Formats: sequence, structure tokens, C-alpha cells
Amino acid sequence: MTHSWHIHPKALAKEMLYRTGGLGALHRRRNRETLSVLMFHRVIDPGAPAWQGANPLFTMSTGFFERLLGLIKRHYTPVGLETVARARRGETLLPPRALLVTFDDGWADNVEFAAPLLRQAGVPAVFFVATGAVKSGEAFWQERLFASLMVAGESSDQWVTLGRTLGVDETIGDTNFPRKVMRLVSCLESRGDRAGQDCTAQFSTMDDRRMPQMMTPEDVTRLAEDPLFDFGTHGVSHTPFPALDDPGMELVQSWDDLSLWCAPPVKSLSFPHGHYTSEILDQAKSTGYELIFDSDKTLCGTGDGINVPACGRFEIRPPGSDPFNSDYGRHLADDFDAGRIAAEMFLRPIAVKSTRESTGLR
Ligand SMILES: [Zn+2]
Repeated sequence: MTHSWHIHPKALAKEMLYRTGGLGALHRRRNRETLSVLMFHRVIDPGAPAWQGANPLFTMSTGFFERLLGLIKRHYTPVGLETVARARRGETLLPPRALLVTFDDGWADNVEFAAPLLRQAGVPAVFFVATGAVKSGEAFWQERLFASLMVAGESSDQWVTLGRTLGVDETIGDTNFPRKVMRLVSCLESRGDRAGQDCTAQFSTMDDRRMPQMMTPEDVTRLAEDPLFDFGTHGVSHTPFPALDDPGMELVQSWDDLSLWCAPPVKSLSFPHGHYTSEILDQAKSTGYELIFDSDKTLCGTGDGINVPACGRFEIRPPGSDPFNSDYGRHLADDFDAGRIAAEMFLRPIAVKSTRESTGLR
């Protein structure tokens, strides 16, 4: 890792604290009885055609992922879904500083890039798949549109035309092209899925290799044969559950779909976009879901077993992945700042049952 002289003092302090071992010592004490659940979406080799069109917000380079796995192995005990389920049932205690790796959506690049690196590191993972996208093979329209506009590039008239169609003033002074594209996609998203799908159909003229791809049902079957990997559902349509007319239908349908492709030992789910209500949570439980994950950026206390209704998860954001930052989309792919990442992982609030019961809509 290279550091330039203008590094932020706070970042430098974290880096020093990490290098001297202070941060690791704090983590060993503070997080002894916790489960950290990491959430990933896409992992792509920056040399692969898919990299160019992938939204940096949800994408990590293979180099970054590999180094993150190294950090995980140094500071945590990686566990699989079944171990977490047994701890939840009170049949076993989790090892100190347990960590579960999870992937959302069901991207093809999980099979191509993430799985081999996980195998090499011997780190288990669970893949929560949106079964509708896996069945149809078609990625979400937001990702397809983002890729189309990015691959066409700033000099093409694609994004200008879309901006006009949407009535968005494309001259709004942002020189960051990925962010312009992100803004157009978000603007369209606010008009609903129908409008988004219609519009994306008009703009999807790119070659297949750069188009975002989902894993196939055969991929699910093959990956599930590896004892390191498990599957759970992420709904059918990827619509936030509170926005569905009948969330119960997707709770049942997504599990039926998944059960055709593999036989997961634990009935588990992660909520699309992390959204749910307490009614939906109850419905999921009464439908037989044993482990439920949300996107509440907390660690899960394990001292008295796992008591939270839903396990929180958090994402590690590589440089260049934050749309609110000026370096968004600049592909600083391998700039792995271990001190910052360790601080981000080690210092999360710890959720126990009493602090979670009162929360409603998230
Ligand atoms: Zn998702």
C-alpha cells in the first residue's frame, strides 16, 4: 500500500493503531462474544469486461477481496451458516470473534471470482439469491442500465438522451461521469420498476460480455455441492418486501424455487434492500425461516446465544465506491487500507436482544 504525504491525520492514527497491534488487541477483548456478518454483492477482476459496467457501489475488485479475506483470517474465526444456526438453537457456542461472509442477489461473478478466492482461503460463505433473476437470467434493470450508459461512455449521446427523456438537466455541474449515470438511474428508479424496465429496454444495446449477469440455477446446484457454501433466499423479484402486495407469497415462492436447485440445510433469508416491518419478520418466522439477516450495521452479541430477531450485516466499501465522494468510480481497485478497514469492522455497535426489540420499520 502506498501513502502520500497528504493522508488524513485520523486515517494515519488508525493505521498506526492497527500496525502497532493496539486495534487488534482491542478487538480481541471487545468482540470476543460477537458474530460479525459481512455483506457483499459483486467481486470482479478489474481486467474482466464486466468490470467496466459494474456499479462501484456494489463491486469489489478481486485483489481487494483477497486482502480482505486475509484480514478476516487474521482477526476472526470464519463460520458457516449451519454453525450459526446451531448456535441460534442453543446446540453449540460460536467460537470467539465469529464471522460469517454473505453475498446478496446471486451474481455470476460470485461463481467466477469470489468462490475460488473463498475456497483458496478456506472461508465459508452463504449466497442469498433473488430467485426470479436467477430463473430469468436477467440482471436487475438498474444494473443493466448503469452498465449500458457506462460502457457507452461520456462521449456517447446515450446518457444525454436519457437525461432529456427524464427531464433531468444534464448540465448540472458534476464532472464525475459515474455519478451522473448513478443520478439518472436513481431518478428513473423513483418512477417505479415499470418505467425503469421500459427505459432500460430502449438503452440496452451493449455486448453481452459487459452486461451484468446472474448465476444460473445450474451454478447454484454446483456451488451448493461444496461444503463451504450455502444458499438462502433474497426474495423473488428483489422488490423491497414492504412494497409488495403479498410479501408472504415471495417468502414461500423464493424458497420453493431455491429448493429445486439445491437442498440448503438451514432455511435462511436476507431482505432485499434490507427493508422489512415487524409484521414481515413475524411472517418470515412463521413460514419457517430460521436465520434472517438485515442490513443493520451492527455486530451480533453471542454471549447468551444469538437472540436478535434478525442478524445485522455490514458492507466494507473499497475506495471509489461511495457515490457521495469525489473519487466515486475512479477504480482505486487495490488501495487496501488495512487500518481503516479494521477500525470499520472492529468498532461497530453490538446488538443484543433488548436493544433490538423496539425497532419497527427499517
Ligand atoms: Zn439485493
